Amino acid sequence: MEKEKKTNLLGMTLLQLQQLCTDEGFPRFAAKQLCDWLYKKCTESIDAMTNLSLAQRARLNEVAYIGRTSPERCQVSADGTKKYLFSPGIEAVYIPDDERATLCVSCQVGCKMGCRFCVTGQQGFHGSLAAGDILNQLFAIPEFESLTNVVFMGMGEPMDNLDAVLSACSVLTSDWGLGWSPKRITVSTVGIIPAMQRFIEECQCHLAVSLHNPVPQERQELMPVQKAYPLEQVLALLRRYDWSGQRRLSFEYTMFRGLNDDQAHAARLVEALRGLDCRVNLIRFHESPEAPYKTSAPLTINAFRDYLNRHGVICTIRASRGQDIDAACGLLAGKGR
Ligand code: SF4
Repeated sequence: MEKEKKTNLLGMTLLQLQQLCTDEGFPRFAAKQLCDWLYKKCTESIDAMTNLSLAQRARLNEVAYIGRTSPERCQVSADGTKKYLFSPGIEAVYIPDDERATLCVSCQVGCKMGCRFCVTGQQGFHGSLAAGDILNQLFAIPEFESLTNVVFMGMGEPMDNLDAVLSACSVLTSDWGLGWSPKRITVSTVGIIPAMQRFIEECQCHLAVSLHNPVPQERQELMPVQKAYPLEQVLALLRRYDWSGQRRLSFEYTMFRGLNDDQAHAARLVEALRGLDCRVNLIRFHESPEAPYKTSAPLTINAFRDYLNRHGVICTIRASRGQDIDAACGLLAGKGR
C-alpha cells in the first residue's frame, strides 16, 4: 500500500485510534498504548512500539505510518525568532521570550480569506493541513520540549479547517495526549461565525479574533470576510458566552497609518467592545511590497493603546518579532529564502 493511502497515526485522537484498533481486530486498550507511543514517548517508528505484538506492528505498518517529517530549512532572526519551513510550503515560527517559548503554527498552505494586508492572503489557497501536519510542526523542531505556548496564527484560517484544528487541540490538551492546559493555546480567526461557534462550544482554548477596523465599510476593504460575516454579528455571537473565566477572548488590531489609528477609530472600537470581557492586542503593521499600507507611528500606537485603557478596554502592544526573516505577523508566504 502506498503511503498516501495509509493512515497517518500522528494527529489521531484516542477515539479515532480506538476505531482503528476495532477495524484491525486489535484489543481496545491498544489505542491507549498507541497514544502513549505517539504523544508521550513521541515515537517516530511503529516498529519501536514494543508492547504491541510483532503481528500487530506488522499489520500497522501495512495500513498506517507516523507522519513525522523534519523541517527543510530554518532561518534565524537577529532577535532569536526562528522560522521553520516544512514541505510543501508549511511555515512555523518559534518565538522565545524570557520565560515563554511560543510556536506559531500554520493550519493551511496559503489562505482563502484574502485579507488585503496579508502576504499569505495574497498568495491564494493551496490546501488544508491534516491534524498530523499541524502537530508535526511542534514535534519536529528541536525546541519541542521547551515550548510553553502554541498559537494558531500562522498561515491559514483555523475556522476554515476546523476539524483538523480541533483534533490537534484535542491531542495537545487531553490526558491521553500531551496533557497541556488549554490556557497555553490560542486559536485565531477572522470571524467565520458557524465554525467559531462550534469552536467555542467544543474547545476550551483561547480565542483571538482579527478585528483591525471597527467601521464596517472600512473593515470590508481590508478583510473581504466582513461581507459574509459582519463584525457586528461576530460580536453578537461572542456576547452569548462567558469570557470571564479561564478562557480568554482577545482581539487583534493591526495599526495602519491613516486608516484605523486615530482617536475616532479608538472610540468606535471601545463602543463596539462594550460589555465584552476581552483584551485588545495592537500589532504594528509589517510593511511589504505586496501590500499598499503603511504602519502607524509608534507615538500614534501608544496613544491608541492609552485611549483604550483609559476607556476600560485592556490593551497591549504586541512586540514585533522576526521581521528580518519574514516571520512576523502577516508575512508568512511559504517561500523560504
Ligand atoms: Fe488568511 Fe490570516 Fe492572512 Fe487573513 S490574515 S489572509 S485569515 S492568513
